[in-house]
Amino acid sequence: GEEYERFDREIETMGVRIKDADTVKVRDDVFDEVTLIALYKLVHKKLISAIGGPISTGKEANVFYGERDGRGLAIKIYRIQTANFKAMTEYLAGDRRFSSVRGTRKGLIFAWTKKEFSNLARAHEAGIPAPEPLAFDRNILLMEFLGEDEMPYPQLRNAEVEDYGAVYREILGYVERLYREARLVHADLSEYNILYHEKPYLIDMGQAVTLDHPRASAFLVRDIKNLNRYFSRYCDVADEEEIIKTLVGT
Ligand code: ADP
Ligand code: MN
Repeated sequence: GEEYERFDREIETMGVRIKDADTVKVRDDVFDEVTLIALYKLVHKKLISAIGGPISTGKEANVFYGERDGRGLAIKIYRIQTANFKAMTEYLAGDRRFSSVRGTRKGLIFAWTKKEFSNLARAHEAGIPAPEPLAFDRNILLMEFLGEDEMPYPQLRNAEVEDYGAVYREILGYVERLYREARLVHADLSEYNILYHEKPYLIDMGQAVTLDHPRASAFLVRDIKNLNRYFSRYCDVADEEEIIKTLVGT
């Protein structure tokens, strides 16, 4: 409606192109007032110079393509009205960095966004191929775009892989580095949350937890099981318990 038109005018004045007419349609569903304000702030800070089309509509978040000075961005917008409010609370409560987060749905989603930013930063610092986090505001996370010509790299499940054994070992190496150096467990590792282009990249780290989370070990076992389930179709996989032992270093 009128608000959106004003918003468009304002961000266009700031030099942001609305690249895709589709965005306008999607926008009505996901861009509530909170999101518009956050987006506006990011634009104002010159962290976004173009907003492109939607890349993905997931259970909890929408991802849009964007640009900052010609460089690709993934703009991940967590929906305030998300179905997984309860599950999110559990992941947050056990994580010391966020255990004090209580209260409103909005507050929880903002904490979740910050948690993904911080998890990506830790992974990135540990040298694990993952999108570099660039900024966050409220329910919006900006990160490096992994893709070419506005198209994201394929998820592992859709990728053409030459040597599955090598990719499997590479990912196990990431999981180990994530555990030992970043001190995190991904907790939703699967062929959906790994992008592949010449090498695998780990994405989607909102739910990743620190090792002191009461369920960190259970999440680690589940991640390894997921990997083994997927890769066992294509190559030999190692024994789950052996993997965990090596990884944890006992
Ligand atoms: P969800 O919580 O909806 O599963 P994800 O973080 O897994 O969110 O992102 C969903 C999809 O959006 C990914 O499978 C990928 O196609 C795309 N995507 C997410 N982050 C990036 C990124 N940094 N670069 C390119 N594409 C991305
Ligand atoms: Mn995902």
